[in-house]
Amino acid sequence: MAMRDYLGEARAIFDRIYPDNKISEVDYEGSTIVVYTKDEELFSKRDDIARSIAQELRRRIAIRPDPSIMSPEDEAAETIRNIIPETSGLQDIYFEPDTGEVVIEADEPSIITAKVSDFITQIKTKTNWSPRIVRAPPIYSRTVKEMRELLRETKQERKEFLHKLGEKLNIPTMPGETWVRLTALGGHREVGRSATLISTNNSKILVDCGMLNTNEGVDHPWAGAPYLYLPEIQPFSSIDAVILTHAHLDHSGLLPVLYKYGYEGPVYMTAPTRDLAVLLENDFIRVAHTEGHKGAYESKHIREMAKKTIPLRYNETTDVTSDTRLTFYNAGHILGSSSVHLHIGEGLYNIVLTGDVKFEKSWLFNPANNKFPRAEALMTESTYAGREDYQHSRPEAAQILSDIITRTFQRGGSVLIPVFAVGRSQEVMLVLEQMMREGRIPQTKVYLDGMIMEATAIHAAYPEYLNKDLREKIMFKKENPFLSDIFSKVESRDQRQEICDASDSRIVLATAGMMNGGPVMEYFKSWCTSPKHTLVFVGYQADGTLGRRIQRGSPDIILSDGGKQVKFEIKMDIETAEGFSGHSDKRQLIAYIATMQPRPRIVLVNHGDGEKAQEFARLIKSKFNIEAHALRNLETIRLY
Ligand SMILES: [Zn+2]
Repeated sequence: MAMRDYLGEARAIFDRIYPDNKISEVDYEGSTIVVYTKDEELFSKRDDIARSIAQELRRRIAIRPDPSIMSPEDEAAETIRNIIPETSGLQDIYFEPDTGEVVIEADEPSIITAKVSDFITQIKTKTNWSPRIVRAPPIYSRTVKEMRELLRETKQERKEFLHKLGEKLNIPTMPGETWVRLTALGGHREVGRSATLISTNNSKILVDCGMLNTNEGVDHPWAGAPYLYLPEIQPFSSIDAVILTHAHLDHSGLLPVLYKYGYEGPVYMTAPTRDLAVLLENDFIRVAHTEGHKGAYESKHIREMAKKTIPLRYNETTDVTSDTRLTFYNAGHILGSSSVHLHIGEGLYNIVLTGDVKFEKSWLFNPANNKFPRAEALMTESTYAGREDYQHSRPEAAQILSDIITRTFQRGGSVLIPVFAVGRSQEVMLVLEQMMREGRIPQTKVYLDGMIMEATAIHAAYPEYLNKDLREKIMFKKENPFLSDIFSKVESRDQRQEICDASDSRIVLATAGMMNGGPVMEYFKSWCTSPKHTLVFVGYQADGTLGRRIQRGSPDIILSDGGKQVKFEIKMDIETAEGFSGHSDKRQLIAYIATMQPRPRIVLVNHGDGEKAQEFARLIKSKFNIEAHALRNLETIRLY
């Protein structure tokens, strides 16, 4: 089969319907065909024209202004600064050459966009960039800033990469029998090191590449890794596409290893997932280094991953291989978390992988989407799918936490809450802020230790991913709960010690969420021997983690302290506040399947402790009369 010349075809269509098009270049950018024009009028009508041509060509088209008609970025920024009045509180100007847009961040965007002013028109005519005025994020994020810099520095490299990728996507699919298989590489009948391979006669697509939750201080890249030595994905250069559902390390943590060992292809994820994954991965290797370990990879491999990331929004469809299209849907679990919909062949077969999923509106997000255009197979997580796994509602959870805090404060103790930096931290912050505002718990300082504040700042940078109530609070009112002065970031070792030694009651949120290292351990060591203090678990504690052992009631624990192994007796109160989880409980998972559209023909259960996953598969079979399995790692199932 000959390769279709989409670029030539696109140009021909333009010449036919818009002869005076002043097109300067037509190029692939991943699966999109990008047309650069020197004609400002064509650019201004780009949406309509792109839509009609995309229909004819069956490829996505983007029309952009030729760089030569736009002011250079430095010059344009200077021009914009001169146009915009100081009262708008200008915070940042950055350029998105991909779309020809200049994003202008200001504290008072309405001053710039006011109808009576002509600032927008002035910017357009003087620079030829299209201004997009947005409210400046209320919290500064170093990660977001550094990511923008990286993308700016590597613009040319990314252009070449996306061009090559576009050419590859055009290689015609092989004729002959079509088949679809799913291979369990990690995170099946267990929680941790998630990795699943979808292969067809044309494609090899890896979804997630995580590490075990117990995987602290690793030296070897394969420690706690999924089964990456399998012939199916060796060498890594044979993988066509990688997809990341969300940033938690048990899904993202070993992605950089792929780049370390020869993978050069794209990885698809949402923009907030990219920023959070970079933050968590960098922290992971930093902690490994400070503990004297070599680490599984280096920061340059994380950069490589970021450079090869193709960010997608929810509900946006893109070709990831010559026979497979990907669409992300909101999974409700953490910022940017996605369920993956794969459309294979022309209408041949569709798979939905939930990723970690929350099928309930939370303080942060809308409930997960479970309506899809088509779906024959569903792979669902089952973290809390056990017989006993019932979770309280969000308001009940808040009440339980408030009771625990009140009790502890009455006896003069402090409350320690181990949290994941991403997800649970922000929910607990919102609840504490609200309870103090409403006088349900005493006013006190809440200390945040670990990367909680930076992760929170990334949430504020992507308000469109949050639920409406929170988005409005953060962006449009002066009542941003994350900026409440009850919160205080722990900046130094001395400050940490001072909090540990304090005689009055404190609340501390600290990482790591499963107590496998991190600052939470310092507070725990100081407080665990006194019955007046309380440790409250608000998130999942995986098998094999210290958190799980303590939660189960272990009377003492051996920890390294000042280089020595020391036995700590646990006298502090150990509590669990159910209902803060970013995972669906059994009822919610059942509701997800019961109301899923369309109804899947086969369900695969993963991301649950061994027994739980199997039990849930049996339940699905009996309840819905749908074929259901909990694959073991290394097993493959043919789906088509
Ligand atoms: Zn997760």
